[in-house]
Amino acid sequence: MPTPSTDLSSSPQRILIVRLSALGDLVFCTSLLDGLRRAYPDAQISWLAQSGFAGILREDPRIDQLISVPKSDLSSLSALWRLRRKLRAQRFDWVIDAQGLAKSRILAWLAGGRRRVGFRSKEPLAGLLHQTYDKGGEPSDIASEYRYLAEQLTGAPAAAPRLPITSGSRDSVDTQMQRLSLEPGFVALCPFTTRPQKHWFDDHWQTLAGLIAEAGLGRCVVFGGPADRTHAQALVEAMPAGSLSLAGDTALHELPAWLERAGLVIGVDTGLTHIGIAVQRPTVALFGSTCPYTGGADSPLRVLYDALPCAPCKRRPTCDGAFICMRQLTPPRVIAAARELLGAVA
Ligand code: SF4
Repeated sequence: MPTPSTDLSSSPQRILIVRLSALGDLVFCTSLLDGLRRAYPDAQISWLAQSGFAGILREDPRIDQLISVPKSDLSSLSALWRLRRKLRAQRFDWVIDAQGLAKSRILAWLAGGRRRVGFRSKEPLAGLLHQTYDKGGEPSDIASEYRYLAEQLTGAPAAAPRLPITSGSRDSVDTQMQRLSLEPGFVALCPFTTRPQKHWFDDHWQTLAGLIAEAGLGRCVVFGGPADRTHAQALVEAMPAGSLSLAGDTALHELPAWLERAGLVIGVDTGLTHIGIAVQRPTVALFGSTCPYTGGADSPLRVLYDALPCAPCKRRPTCDGAFICMRQLTPPRVIAAARELLGAVA
């Protein structure tokens, strides 16, 4: 059992988490939030996040104050100065940089705080923090670095990521599902991410949708953001009748409620897939170029990852766009994993 470092041993009354983006990491970082909330139930916990991502945390009762900052403010000296005044007025005891970037360290420093801590990384300006921690923990566990940081700060084991869902979001999603004649138990497909090497192939998705229909697993519903709308619609047009795209049509804060209504989630290494796990739906995750998590979730999870000699290449693929790691995760392999997973939870 880890023990909290001595200079953090007095209980904080006001804590600020700085984790600005991205969607998946905000989901993972709820492990840190949960650990802090359990250890310090009476503390006021605030979270500073970028406007485009903050919505996913909007309904989380573990957060007392969600501070949303537009991306444009991060490059405006006058906006940063206003933010500094606002944050320093709150006299935080702990400020936790849970991103490990120069910009998040600057924001942590602007916020002040009796103790500023954060991830150790190659990024500059670590001197703005009083203490840094390795991205430790069991690397194959989901959200390992956030859980490890929580353990270092609280001395207690940290849980897997979770996203609470309000009854308001459930009701809203149920109403939208009725309008779409969509029953609970659909198969949520999460194909979109920012890096091409993390994508699965369109023909694979379309073949998979056919296999899902043959297996009677449910209607396929493609999720994504507004920028994915056209691509998602093209995917759905080559899928079995009844398949549906909701890309760009779901509010960020309602995504957990949407995925909670799925009977199965299948996705690449992207925020939506992680949300499926955080709302404890059976999830099949497809990994190729990035390090997979294979354990540590408290929900039904199958990860497909072949560990090619060139993997994980992360941001530097060496395969000239062939993306063999993803190509060889064939639709029959994915449907077999899904059936096995659903059989195990039945
Ligand atoms: S270099 Fe290897 S791991 Fe990276 S995308 Fe290509 S096949 Fe996948």
